[in-house]
Amino acid sequence: MVLKRERMTASLQSINPYSGEIISEYTTLSSLEIADKLTFSEKAFQVHKHSSIEERANKMMTLSKLLLQEKDVLATLISNEMGKLMEEAKAEVKKCASVCEFYAKQTADFLKDQKMASGNSQSYVVYQPIGTVLAVMPWNFPFWQVFRFAAPAVMAGNVGVLKHASNVSGCALAIEELFEEAGFEKGVFQSLLITSSQVEEVIANPIVKAITLTGSEKAGASVAALAGKYLKKSVLELGGSDPFIVLEDADLEYTVSMAMKSRFMNCGQSCIAAKRFLVPKKLKNKFLGLLMEKVESITLSDPIENTTNLGPMARLDLLQELDRQVDESVQQGAVLISGGAAFDETKCLYMPTILSDVKKGMPAYDEELFGPVASVIIYQTEEEMLEIANDTPYGLGASIWTSDIAKAKQLALKIDSGAVFINEMVKSDPRLPFGGVKLSGYGRELSREGMLEFMNQKTVVVK
Ligand code: NAP
Repeated sequence: MVLKRERMTASLQSINPYSGEIISEYTTLSSLEIADKLTFSEKAFQVHKHSSIEERANKMMTLSKLLLQEKDVLATLISNEMGKLMEEAKAEVKKCASVCEFYAKQTADFLKDQKMASGNSQSYVVYQPIGTVLAVMPWNFPFWQVFRFAAPAVMAGNVGVLKHASNVSGCALAIEELFEEAGFEKGVFQSLLITSSQVEEVIANPIVKAITLTGSEKAGASVAALAGKYLKKSVLELGGSDPFIVLEDADLEYTVSMAMKSRFMNCGQSCIAAKRFLVPKKLKNKFLGLLMEKVESITLSDPIENTTNLGPMARLDLLQELDRQVDESVQQGAVLISGGAAFDETKCLYMPTILSDVKKGMPAYDEELFGPVASVIIYQTEEEMLEIANDTPYGLGASIWTSDIAKAKQLALKIDSGAVFINEMVKSDPRLPFGGVKLSGYGRELSREGMLEFMNQKTVVVK
């Protein structure tokens, strides 16, 4: 490989979406700098892989404590870079602390040798780290997405390099600092400030053994193609357009309050947010009435203020794309119940929106709406409801709202998705596997399943 020695001129910008202020600009790494960081990563791996799980766990617990100590500062950074409400940003940092603690305590158990019967005197599987894993991550949960990959990977003895979304480079650098401050050797976790067009250079480098990407389908397809080209394992966590299925016997007050949370948390910018609300015809008016009441009480403003309950979207281009999807859906017959336009484009504020009578062929039915817009689809029969629930190219996490748990458990088996939650909003949890089917991706994160994605599961046989 011929390295380009000249420094690249491209720069990454962090812009506060609410104030429009440029927070920082960062020069991207040159090819030589990328290669140096990867060499450094390999050196760190050679040391880190020989450390004991107990040593790693002590550092991981320190990292967990640091996150809690620095919670307010880190939450402000998150909020400034991508517009998250302060309360939500603090909760995100706390969740990162909990994933560090979880893997610090569970890894020894997860990686115990597994004895297997094979007719030989001994046969068992040992779990060994594979080396440097590249994580390509999105901006919507700029700490959580990184920690849910990094905590298990590092505890298992792997090392990580991160290509974070271009608008959250400050978060990327803060995470690198936190790993070092917790006592991990320099190089165990590094942030690479690079553009997406430089990702191939990283994947092509023999030091990198696997790739995990969380993001859009387009980015996933591109990175998976590169992983194929260079024969490296990949895990993809992509988009979703998950159904929130209301059955006739649902507790409607509770269901609507959870619908609000599931749709408007993080300004609707979550892969597992409920995006399509499937409501039986009999409950249509009551459901829409309760939902509208709650939507109208939302205060849309500065994410730093604690009176705000809906902040800005992360970038203007994302707001404009959402607005196009809403406009086209309305032109095609969706009924606009509330909102439906930008509130203030200069502050990236989009009105909380409810669309009803959404049908196939409209963007609000066919596409992922990544913002504060609830698409309500009315169904007549259970058969029709199941058809609509599965009528999406995605399959991440569906939810079912009912008093009949036995029935919901049967329905759960008929829904094509990575998870089904009954009377609870879909959320990630360190103890449970997380991932999708269809265009929502492949592989799993979190739990033991997530940790094993990047391990050599080595079979040892003694005759
Ligand atoms: P995105 O545009 O795909 O960006 C995600 C990451 O991929 C960023 O770091 C981005 O870098 C990088 N990237 C983009 N195109 C690339 C390419 N061709 N090659 C290599 N890297 C590339 O997605 P986003 O807008 O940030 O996030 C929203 C999407 O992520 C939604 O579809 C959402 O549902 C999905 N998501 C899924 C999960 C999950 O767990 N399943 C979680 C959160 C979000 P740049 O910023 O430099 O472009």
